[in-house]
Amino acid sequence: MIDSLLAGNAKFRHDEYAPNQDYYHTIAAQQKPKVLWIGCSDSRVSEDIVTGSRPGTLFVHRNIANIVAFNDVNIAAILDYALLHLKVKDIVVCGHTRCGGIAALEAGYIEDSYIADWLCVASEALERTEKACRRRSMTHEQKMELLARENVKLQIRHLEHIAIVKRMRKRKTWPRLHGWLYRVETGGIDIVVDGNAAPQA
Ligand SMILES: [Zn+2]
Repeated sequence: MIDSLLAGNAKFRHDEYAPNQDYYHTIAAQQKPKVLWIGCSDSRVSEDIVTGSRPGTLFVHRNIANIVAFNDVNIAAILDYALLHLKVKDIVVCGHTRCGGIAALEAGYIEDSYIADWLCVASEALERTEKACRRRSMTHEQKMELLARENVKLQIRHLEHIAIVKRMRKRKTWPRLHGWLYRVETGGIDIVVDGNAAPQA
């Protein structure tokens, strides 16, 4: 498998890098990504490929179940760098269907303590989903999708309350916060939270 990655790199250099050297030399000198992407670590959701983006477009943070945690120094540093230095104006939180993290959250998966600890940050999404399930009947797949959507909305709310984001959004029209759901079964993206709508007071 590892050999095929290196062979893939040789193909990339030949088919993509070499014919577009000007572009790649420009971004080699300085990156100017337009969007901060917060996605799931899932191998099926490759942000560059599913959005047709070239290297240099997206500044990326991925973790299990695309979570924005208040006590996560990693995401705090990413937000600082993206907003203050790169001046990124749009942040996308992208969840996806058939997410293993979301399935573990729903199943109350507690065997591996770090995963359980991490998923605690999304527990409010599970509460909202359980409440909706009590109001109307849903198949398991519908419930999983709703939970993935509620998780995207929750992580957007977390972002809204992180100090740097809150402070900037008080003074400026950005960062705009977009919540998306990628469908692994079709390749399509649903808009869950419209970041272009006016922010709520
Ligand atoms: Zn996932």
